[in-house]
Amino acid sequence: YSAKETRNGWKRYETRMNLKAKEKLLLENDLRMALELGQFYLAYQPLVDLQSDTLVGAEALLRWKHPQKGVIPPSEFIPLCEENGFILPLGEWVLRNACEQMMRWRGAGFPPIILSVNLSIRQFRQHDLCARIANILADTGMQPQWLELEITESIMADVAYATAMLEQLKKLGVRISIDDFGTGYSSLYYLKRFPIDKLKIDRAFVNDVLTDRNDAAIVSGISAMAHNLELKVTAEGVENEGQVAFLKGLKCQEAQGYFFSRPVPPEEFVALYETHRNKKESAG
Ligand code: C2E
Ligand code: MG
Ligand code: MG
Ligand code: MG
Repeated sequence: YSAKETRNGWKRYETRMNLKAKEKLLLENDLRMALELGQFYLAYQPLVDLQSDTLVGAEALLRWKHPQKGVIPPSEFIPLCEENGFILPLGEWVLRNACEQMMRWRGAGFPPIILSVNLSIRQFRQHDLCARIANILADTGMQPQWLELEITESIMADVAYATAMLEQLKKLGVRISIDDFGTGYSSLYYLKRFPIDKLKIDRAFVNDVLTDRNDAAIVSGISAMAHNLELKVTAEGVENEGQVAFLKGLKCQEAQGYFFSRPVPPEEFVALYETHRNKKESAG
C-alpha cells in the first residue's frame, strides 16, 4: 500500500459510513411518519397442529409498506426501532391491530384460534405492560386465553424482573411462548421455573434437520425436554414434507413455515381460515 492509496481507501470508507448514517436518519424520520400515515400492516402465518393437520393459530408479523422502497421486512427496521424506543408505540399498535383483526374474524363466524404476537424486550421491560395489554383486551373484546405473547430468551438476563412480569402476565390470562428457542442466552433451570406455555424451536435448527445429525439431535432434544416439562413445542421454518414427517416422529405438536404458508395479508389469511372451518364442519 502507498500512503495515498491508504488515505483514499479510508476516505472511501468514511463516505460510505456517512451515507449509512444519513440513510439511518432518513429511515428514522420515515418510521415516525409511517405510523401516522398507516404504512404498517400485519401479515399472518398459520400455526398448524401436526397430528390433526389443522390450523390452530396465527402469528402476526409486522410489515412496512414504504411508498418508495416497497414492502420492508422487519429485520430492516425493528432493530432501529428497538434502538430508538419507537418499538414501544409501534409494538402497542401491533398488539391492538392484531386483536382487532382477530375479533373481526371471530365476528364473521370463524372459530377461535391462537393469536401469536411478538413482544420486544423493551416492551417486556415496561412496568405498566400488563395494564396496557389489559386495556387492549378490554377495548377489543379479545379473550386473554387466545392471545399468545412471544418473547425471547433475552428476558432471562434479569431473572427477578422476568419472574415478576411473567407472573403478572399469567394472571392476566395470556399465554407465553419462547421464540427462537435455542439461539439465545438460556438457562434450563429458569425454563422450568418461569410460567411458560410453549417453546418455539428456531428455524436455524429445523432447516437442516434431515441432513445434519447435530441439528436433528438438537430438535429432538428440545422436543423431548419440552414434553417432560409439559410445555408445548412449535417448530419454526418448516419448508418440506420430510421435515413434517421427522417432527411428527418426535411428537412435536405444532409447526409453522413456508410448507404450510408464507405470512400473508389478512385478506389472504381468510382463505386459509375458511378451509379450516370447512374441515372442522365436515369432521364433526
Ligand atoms: P420470528 O418471530 O421468529 O418470526 C418468524 C420469521 O420466520 C418471520 O420472518 C417469517 O416470515 C419467517 N419464516 C416463517 N416460516 C419460514 C420458513 O419456512 N422459512 C424461512 N426461511 N423463514 C420463515 P419475518 O416476518 O421477516 O420476521 C422476522 C422477525 O422480526 C420475527 O422473527 C420477529 O422476531 C421480528 N418481528 C416481526 N414482527 C414483529 C413485531 O410485530 N414486533 C416485534 N417486536 N418483532 C417482530
Ligand atoms: Mg415469532
Ligand atoms: Mg420473534
Ligand atoms: Mg422465531
